[in-house]
Amino acid sequence: MPEGPEIRRAADRIAKVLVNQPIAAAEFIVPSLQPFEKRINGSVVNRIDTRGKAMLTRFDNGLTLYSHNQLYGRWFVTKRGRLPRTNRSLRVALHTAAHSALLYSATEVDVLTESQLQHHPFLRRIGPDILDTELTADLISARLDEARFRRRSVGGLYLDQSFLAGLGNYLRTEILYRARVNPRSRPVDLDKAAHRRLARETLAISKRSYRTGGVTLSRERARILKSSGASFENYRFWAFGRRGLPCYVCGDRITRLNIAGRRLYLCPGCQPPA
Ligand SMILES: [Zn+2]
Repeated sequence: MPEGPEIRRAADRIAKVLVNQPIAAAEFIVPSLQPFEKRINGSVVNRIDTRGKAMLTRFDNGLTLYSHNQLYGRWFVTKRGRLPRTNRSLRVALHTAAHSALLYSATEVDVLTESQLQHHPFLRRIGPDILDTELTADLISARLDEARFRRRSVGGLYLDQSFLAGLGNYLRTEILYRARVNPRSRPVDLDKAAHRRLARETLAISKRSYRTGGVTLSRERARILKSSGASFENYRFWAFGRRGLPCYVCGDRITRLNIAGRRLYLCPGCQPPA
């Protein structure tokens, strides 16, 4: 499933063709949303926000298209009138004079007013977005200290959207590895320095992945691996997917375990139990 950085990049691609352009035609294939077609036609997209894995397309008439792609949903951007090659089923199409933004197979699509948005069950439940420019290391540290989070394993916490929205499986492995924190540790077991590393790496790894299109490994290491012929999957990560391979920092073998039902990779040398 795409994580925060991938959703934000998809939002950027859509924003590029939709923002400040009047919608020439809106098509909602979801029957319950068809009454909105008329109101969306002729409106202008002000911006596209993301909240974790949800995307919010904001129209100038106060309405917002809420979409959450879950496993199968996907947005495509095309020149108007062209359809992408896909077996998925179309749910929403927003056409401008020149382009189309097409949403396929998303299971959760809705059109909401500002007040419905405020009360939306998913949006109410999730924490701050990892790519929100107002999220700081201090705010993340404070969150790690909150009573509802501090006695849970960070391995579980770092998949929980109510802790921070947009975290997912590869980000969890990469953040904990770079922060040198064992996934079974709880915030309450960690000293101040570890809290600070965790908070700092949460921001750094998320932003880096957004900027690079999913590469969290340092630029220099990625460049060397790429020029020696490594595939994209093999030059992306510090630890994720590298079971049995030597840690880039200490040389120990990366191991794999399951936490909260998903695979996680760690270096026993760099991430000893607290
Ligand atoms: Zn190591």
